[in-house]
Amino acid sequence: MPLSGSAREFSISVIRQLTEQGYTAYWAGGCVRDLLMNREPTDFDVATNATPQQVRQLFGHKRTLAVGESFGVIIVLGPKSVGQVEVATFRSEGEYHDGRRPSTVDYCDAERDALRRDFTINGMFFDPVSEEIRDYVGGQDDLRQRLVRAIGNPPERFTEDKLRLLRAVRFAALLNFELDAETAQAVQELASQIVVVSAERIAQELRKMLSHPQRAIALQLIRNLDLLPVLLPEVEQHVVRFSEERWDELCRRLAALGSADFPTAMAALLRHVPCPIDWNRKDAPPHGTVPDICRRLKLSNEERDRIAWLVSHAGQLNDVPTQSLASVKRLAAHPDFLALLQIERSDATVTGQQDTPFTWLDTFLQQTPSSEINPPELVTGRDLVQLGHQPGPAFRIWLEAIRDAQLNGTISTREDALDLLSTLVQQGPPPGS
Ligand code: ATP
Ligand code: MG
Repeated sequence: MPLSGSAREFSISVIRQLTEQGYTAYWAGGCVRDLLMNREPTDFDVATNATPQQVRQLFGHKRTLAVGESFGVIIVLGPKSVGQVEVATFRSEGEYHDGRRPSTVDYCDAERDALRRDFTINGMFFDPVSEEIRDYVGGQDDLRQRLVRAIGNPPERFTEDKLRLLRAVRFAALLNFELDAETAQAVQELASQIVVVSAERIAQELRKMLSHPQRAIALQLIRNLDLLPVLLPEVEQHVVRFSEERWDELCRRLAALGSADFPTAMAALLRHVPCPIDWNRKDAPPHGTVPDICRRLKLSNEERDRIAWLVSHAGQLNDVPTQSLASVKRLAAHPDFLALLQIERSDATVTGQQDTPFTWLDTFLQQTPSSEINPPELVTGRDLVQLGHQPGPAFRIWLEAIRDAQLNGTISTREDALDLLSTLVQQGPPPGS
């Protein structure tokens, strides 16, 4: 097992304090799976037979937060550097009415708590003091066989909580496991039910899957299990129904992306979906476009802007060697330029496209300091007002012409800029202004 970190130590001390009072307490769920796989867990969740009230009593109200008390979850706050640990009371869940949340929660023992968990690999407990595994669901066998298997009856478990349909895909893809046959069959049969899960939760799963290097495997599973037409019908329409070659290429491009954040990977995924240039207009975006997908998934405006900028600039790097210096610098100054370069470069490796624009850009970026790519403006709108010009549409056109001249290197001082301005003013208002 990996060496201890401080979050790990803190969760062990929480478990010790609980057991010293006579309670049972274990590490539970994802952290046990990760430890048994020799991976460093993201967090060390604790499960216990102490009730939430008893947990709060033991650690004190000041050091605990009752965020999920109705579900039996108390957060115990650690020292600042350590963070916090979630302590959940062993519970079994009553019937599910809405496909998302149980109607009642009963406190119980570890074994019954294991049975409410989603997959066998996520259903184990570990006692860090005695170093014993408590496995009531065959999780160790499935870990060895690298299988994601629903605990209990798969169709029932997915019907209870439809988010599990996507969790199954995520664990299989990201851990590089197989889906057990009955589990896979149940996902496929219930795929259309994913629509009852909130957009936020679906988006959260997509973020985890797409920001991971195994994203192409996740996408392949999403398609094979019939989730694609429900989750991303636009990709089904513009990729799958377009041609099998386009689909294969998309999967290979997503894999070639390597490590990338969610907006970059999402942009690579949506490359063939139409994207209007004015994606951030106030009114509803056209149906079936990139900003429409972002709206449906309730992504943040920042995510939407990044994804839409990347999709709408797809393919533009090819023209870079023949463009004006000003156009290239404008593109290179964009905060997502490097993400665009990453997408285009991975596309090029897959499609076997020649790497002329990349060689050209690499040289350009090496030879051009950022102070030259995005230098301070020589003249601003405020200057124009001070010079007695009335604000109007001509302003933007003049300022852009001056900026172009600066970025192209034809002018370099404020005096040059003011000279150019007076020439532009003398030429009269630009046509159409
Ligand atoms: P990750 O590494 O993504 O955090 P995890 O296994 O820790 O993986 P969490 O979502 O943090 O997943 O949940 C912790 C544990 O709670 C899971 O391991 C599982 O036992 C249980 N669990 C979480 N979500 C569900 C669910 N929708 N249905 C049943 N059990 C669940
Ligand atoms: Mg977790």
